Amino acid sequence: MTDKTVLRNDWTREEIEAIYHLPLLELVYKAATVHREWNDPEEIQISTLLSIKTGGCPEDCSYCGQAARYHTNIKVQALLPTEQVLEHARKAKEGGSSRFCMAAAWREVRNNRDFDRVIDMVKGVNELGMEVCCTLGMLSEEQAERLQEAGLYAYNHNLDTSEQYYEEIISTRTFDHRINTINNVRKAGITVCSGGIIGLGETHRDRISMLLTLATMPKHPESVPINALARVAGTPLQDNEKTDTWEMVRMIATARIIMPSSMVRLSAGRMEMSGFEQGWCFMAGANSIFTGERETLLVTPNPGISEDLQLLQTLGLKPMGRAEVSCEL
Ligand code: SF4
Repeated sequence: MTDKTVLRNDWTREEIEAIYHLPLLELVYKAATVHREWNDPEEIQISTLLSIKTGGCPEDCSYCGQAARYHTNIKVQALLPTEQVLEHARKAKEGGSSRFCMAAAWREVRNNRDFDRVIDMVKGVNELGMEVCCTLGMLSEEQAERLQEAGLYAYNHNLDTSEQYYEEIISTRTFDHRINTINNVRKAGITVCSGGIIGLGETHRDRISMLLTLATMPKHPESVPINALARVAGTPLQDNEKTDTWEMVRMIATARIIMPSSMVRLSAGRMEMSGFEQGWCFMAGANSIFTGERETLLVTPNPGISEDLQLLQTLGLKPMGRAEVSCEL
C-alpha cells in the first residue's frame, strides 16, 4: 500500500501533460485510486441548479444561450420572487439535493435591490440546512463579504477555458477579471467553485493550461465543474462537434489526480451521455452531478432527478449529505 497522495499547488505543465496523456485505462485506474484515498467513492453529491434570472445578458460568451446578442429560443425572465426560489430549494432538498445553486445571467453584481433580494435568498436557503451556492457574475470584495455574512457557502465562477484561448470565446471581459473575482471570493472566506467547458474548439494544450491554472491556485477550488459544451441553437458554437465522452473522462480523471480533495463535478452535457458513459465519469473520480427542475440545467436539457437516483442505485452509489467542512482562509 502506497502513502496517501499529498495536496500539491506546485504542479508544472509537463507533469499535468504527462498525466493527461496517459493511456486512458491507466489514467482512470490512477484517478480511481486517488479518489479512494481522499473521498468516499460510493457518494455522489446532487446539486440543484436554479436559474433565478434568465437571459438578456450583455456578455458575449459564445457558448451561452443567455447572451442577449444571440438569437436563441431562451425566454428572458426577471429575478424570481424570493419565496418562489425558497420553494424550489425545499423541493430540491426533499429530492435528495444537499447543495442549491442560484444562477443569475448578470455581467456583474450591482449594489441594488436585486442584490438585496439575492442576499435574502441566500439566508433562506442556508436556513434550510443546504450548502448554498451562487453564480452571479463578477463580484467585488465588499459584495463577496455581504454574501459570506448571509451564509453563502460557495461561489461559482468558471475559468471556462485557458488564458490563451479565452479571447476566442469571450471578448467582453478578460481572463484576469475571472481570477480577480475568484480572489475576492477566497478573501471573503467563501469556498470556490471553478472549472471549465470542453468542446469549445480548444486544443488539448488549452485544457491542460486551464487545469494548471486551477491546480496551482494557492488553494484548490473546493469544487471543479467539468462541462461538455451544450450546443445551443443561435449561438456561435451551435455547430461544434459533440464532445466525445472519453475526452470528458480524461479531463475528469486528470482533475481528480491533481486536485484530489476537490469535488469534481460532472456538469453540463449529461443529457447526451448514456448511464454507462456517466458511470465511466464516476469511475474517473467525478463525485457530483447537477440536477435542475423541469429536467433542465439552466437553459439546456438535463436528466431528471428520478432518472439520476435510478442511475445511482444501479451503480451502487448514494447521494451525499451536506459537507461539514468550511472554507479555511
Ligand atoms: S455565460 Fe454568464 S456571463 Fe456569459 S453570456 Fe451567459 S449568462 Fe452572461
